[in-house]
Formats: sequence, C-alpha cells, structure tokens
Amino acid sequence: MNLYLPEKINVQGEEFRVYLTQEEIQQKIQHIGQTLSRKFMDKRPIFIGVLNGSYIFLADLMRFVSIPCEVDFLKLSSYGDEKVSSGQVHDLKQIDADIKDRHVIIVEDIVDTGLSMKYLVDKLKQHEPASLTVVTLLHKAEATKHEVQIDYAAFKIPNLFVLGYGLDFAQEGRNLGQIYIQIKKDED
Ligand code: 5GP
Repeated sequence: MNLYLPEKINVQGEEFRVYLTQEEIQQKIQHIGQTLSRKFMDKRPIFIGVLNGSYIFLADLMRFVSIPCEVDFLKLSSYGDEKVSSGQVHDLKQIDADIKDRHVIIVEDIVDTGLSMKYLVDKLKQHEPASLTVVTLLHKAEATKHEVQIDYAAFKIPNLFVLGYGLDFAQEGRNLGQIYIQIKKDED
C-alpha cells in the first residue's frame, strides 16, 4: 500500500511534523482490538464511531476485532474549521441502532477538553445500554476541562494541535497515513 507519509507538511500555512508513525499506531490498535475481543466475547458489542475524525481509526480497529459485533456512526461538531474548541457541541447525525441493553463501545479520534465525550456519554447513557466503553486514539490529558470516563486511550499526547489519520485541519489532512503535530514557531 502506498500511503501518504511525508516527513513534514504545510496545511493552511501551518507546519506539521510526524509525531506518531504508522507502525506505532497499528501496534497500539492491534493491542486494543485484541483486548476488546477478549472482553466482549459472546456479548455482540456495538461500536459507535464518532464522525468524521474516527473513520480511519475505527476501520483499522475493526480489522483486529475477532468477535461478532455491529458498527454504527454518529456525528458531532464542536471545532468547525478552527484549532480551538468552540465550547459547544452539536448533534449532526444520530445513531440508527437501538442500544438499550447492548454493550456499546464509543470510538473517538481524540479527547481534548472532554466536552464532546462527556456530552456523548451522558446522552448515550439515557438509552440504558448494558455497558458503555470509551475508546480514543488520542488523549490530550493536560487539556481536560470536563472529567470524563476514558477506558482505552491508545496514546496520551501533549496539548498541541495534531492532524492526519482521519483528523483534519479545516477539512484537510485526513488522508495522511500517520499523526502529525504542529511545529512550534521556535522549533524549526
Ligand atoms: P473536546 O470536546 O474533547 O474538546 O474535543 C473533541 C473534538 O475536537 C475531537 O473529536 C476533534 O474533532 C477535535 N479536536 C480536538 N483536538 C484536536 C486536534 O489536535 N486536532 C484535530 N484535528 N481535531 C481536534
């Protein structure tokens, strides 16, 4: 496979460099997929991907899940095209599945302030799932403003803007094959 893996990339006038390689990402995802497969054996869990950012992570994670399961999606928006959260969460698409008494696994690209995930967990709990598990590829632990349950975070990252592997900057960069981090002005 010929993935898009430049060393550095300029998006919308900002410089980014490789932060997590494709190998590092795949290794962690394999581990999480195998762990979830053991934990939810015979439970037919339903994975809920949070659009748009989680679509590549979810697709790769599913390849390491070796038990019967279902997949659904919802869409939230809080960032718009900016690099900082707007502080408000909007529902842009709801799930189709009935999750009452089901084992639900939320799959998110990144937890930053925790606002979106807290909103989501509170909302899904109202549907009375049998269990709710939160999986995120990236966690900006230092950025937490809203305490929220995170069961599996593949990587803890610093409080800097990242893109690639599904995550965008003003809709660009999602097709990069690995995670890139913004280069601070004094770092060049
Ligand atoms: P939170 O609600 O936790 O503050 O933000 C969660 C959402 O903000 C994520 O789902 C993602 O869409 C976006 N986000 C937060 N940090 C970043 C980042 O560093 N890069 C990108 N591309 N999106 C981010």
